[in-house]
Amino acid sequence: MAFALEARSVVKAYPVGSGEVRAVDGVSFDLQMGEFVALVGPSGSGKTTMLAILAALLRPTSGSIVIDGQDLSRMKEIRRAVFRRRKIGFTFQANNLVSYLTALENVELMLRLNNELDAAGRKRARELLVLLGLEERLDALPRQLSGGQQQRVAIARSLINQPTLVLADEPTASLDTERAHQVVQTLANLVKEQNRAGIMVTHDLRMVQYADRVIHMLDGRIERVIQPDDDLSCLADPDSCQMIPVDTLGLSA
Ligand code: ADP
Ligand code: MG
Repeated sequence: MAFALEARSVVKAYPVGSGEVRAVDGVSFDLQMGEFVALVGPSGSGKTTMLAILAALLRPTSGSIVIDGQDLSRMKEIRRAVFRRRKIGFTFQANNLVSYLTALENVELMLRLNNELDAAGRKRARELLVLLGLEERLDALPRQLSGGQQQRVAIARSLINQPTLVLADEPTASLDTERAHQVVQTLANLVKEQNRAGIMVTHDLRMVQYADRVIHMLDGRIERVIQPDDDLSCLADPDSCQMIPVDTLGLSA
């Protein structure tokens, strides 16, 4: 079976003084279509660096990333940029919305960049924003939106091109509890229904219940993978959880 994503022995090293820091230190995993995975771990464990590599924004020092059967490391920069726009949707902690475009226009912009802004695309942009609870804010500029609303616009923008791979770094950081559940559930459902692959970095224990798997990073490596048969719901309620020593997950920060 073809995987949506294959990461093999990925390393990202930064020179520091006379030595180096390995932000990512030999990470390998696969993601199938329809799979939604949570990436967790303490601050500094390499989550954002890994996401940036998967988003083709950062080249690894070594190792390979294959998305939809295509090896990123073999692509020239221009092709990588086109591939990124078409196949990868991402939201990073800074939302980077275009300040003079409305919420709807920010989402439509991604279609425009691919020369794919037609009536169907416009309808999809509107539907995504409605699904994310922004039906009243379609024509608002970013500065007229709360942090959480901006974050949801960024999530809609990451999904509009119907990418193979959807990446989100702390998508619930500025959302209240109710909204956080709604947004992550929507994200998880869209990944399932539309048969995409999704990775969400999160510090929020309550959000891992929507994931099919939890990948736990520590010091640039995968410390462990928590599978669906391990009761994920117990992560949200550590007191009742005997099986997984939650203290070691570095999630309580
Ligand atoms: P996380 O997202 O899990 O908090 P990061 O991926 O941001 O972790 O960082 C992992 C490690 O790599 C940290 O020790 C960080 O200081 C280091 N690091 C990240 N980016 C750089 C960089 N551009 N130069 C040097 N070190 C970096
Ligand atoms: Mg980070």
